[in-house]
Amino acid sequence: MSNEVLKVDADLSAVKEIQSVGGDTVKKCYQCATCSSVCPLSPDEAPFPRKQMILAQWGFRDRLISDPSVWLCHQCGDCTKYCPRNARPGDVLASLRLLVTKELVPFKFMHTFYSHLWGLPILILIALAFILPVMFLAFKGVPDLTNPISFPYNPEINYKIAFMELPARVVMIDLLFLPLAAFVVIIIANAVSKMWNMYLDYYKVPVAYRYGFATVIKNYLGPAIREILAHSRFEKCGANSWRANPHKMLLYAFIILFITTGTVFVLADILGMHTPWNPFTHPVKWLGNIGGILLLYGVISLITGRNKAVLENSLRTAYPDAFLLWLILFVGITGFLIEIARIVPVFYNYVGFVYIAHIICVFLLFLAIPYSKFSHLIYRTTAVVFDLYYKDILKKQGS
Ligand code: SF4
Ligand code: SF4
Repeated sequence: MSNEVLKVDADLSAVKEIQSVGGDTVKKCYQCATCSSVCPLSPDEAPFPRKQMILAQWGFRDRLISDPSVWLCHQCGDCTKYCPRNARPGDVLASLRLLVTKELVPFKFMHTFYSHLWGLPILILIALAFILPVMFLAFKGVPDLTNPISFPYNPEINYKIAFMELPARVVMIDLLFLPLAAFVVIIIANAVSKMWNMYLDYYKVPVAYRYGFATVIKNYLGPAIREILAHSRFEKCGANSWRANPHKMLLYAFIILFITTGTVFVLADILGMHTPWNPFTHPVKWLGNIGGILLLYGVISLITGRNKAVLENSLRTAYPDAFLLWLILFVGITGFLIEIARIVPVFYNYVGFVYIAHIICVFLLFLAIPYSKFSHLIYRTTAVVFDLYYKDILKKQGS
């Protein structure tokens, strides 16, 4: 018999972190593997979530970050339904995704603020610390929020930039959101590159099959996006299959709103067509309204569906889940309120306040991409791309 001693270093701080964001049942698991056999998304070549449950019990951060299975789980809850120990693997994997999100980014304290209710006032103060100085700069002083002609539709303050003439509110939005978007893109690009390299090492992919960025994008991103748009993995779920449709609507809403924002940027910021557009007659506004309605439908359905699922014990809603859904809801509501306040005379004087509330919500939603559950938009896509790539490699190796 070998005298070799296997040394395992448990990371108790990681375990505590997992438990504090919805994974408090992790220690109940006794490794029976029922979950991996009932999971409709678990592949034969790398089954989950049993293995991830034991990695979580020991707090193996590095192994969890390197494992795409953590993101391939869609929290459908089939495993939770059949787990004989009520260890709730589906909910534990959701908390593991939060742990991984934190590990991948700098300024980790931001992730902590997004994960706990006590962090919410701090996040609002952070947003205001950026928004207010930029507002004062763009509007050349403190505008009167009770007077829409002072804020946000001030007709007197315009900026000549190259051949463009931009009103103060457009300059304010650009000064705020262009650097924020650049910050988010840099952080996420760095995290995705880290993830991808760790996945390659974790699966010991031979050097000959380690394709360059362009090849991976060309061969696997398209099929992954088609799968995500169709929600084909989501639709295999059993226990919480109701989530597929509202989640899909929410995704379509974000795509439509992204296209709308890009169009507004080109028309208003580059071509100078910046008068406040009529919500009833302007086609870009129609598109934005369709996106907004889809967003409200998706997010309200997810909130009410989750509440029902929590009562039925098929799903848990941890604070980070609830926070993201309510933040998206507030983005939708404040967006529509701006339009309503503009066209309903009795609300007109409140446009300034609603505008600020909307900007705070959108600012926090942008920043939520690297620092909250919202990161699954990018990281799950990366994991699906890797999954398709890895299956293709296995096929090539076998042929
Ligand atoms: S989570 Fe539950 S079903 Fe899965 S291995 Fe542990 S005890 Fe078994
Ligand atoms: S929640 Fe669903 S997808 Fe995730 S591990 Fe459990 S059964 Fe699989």
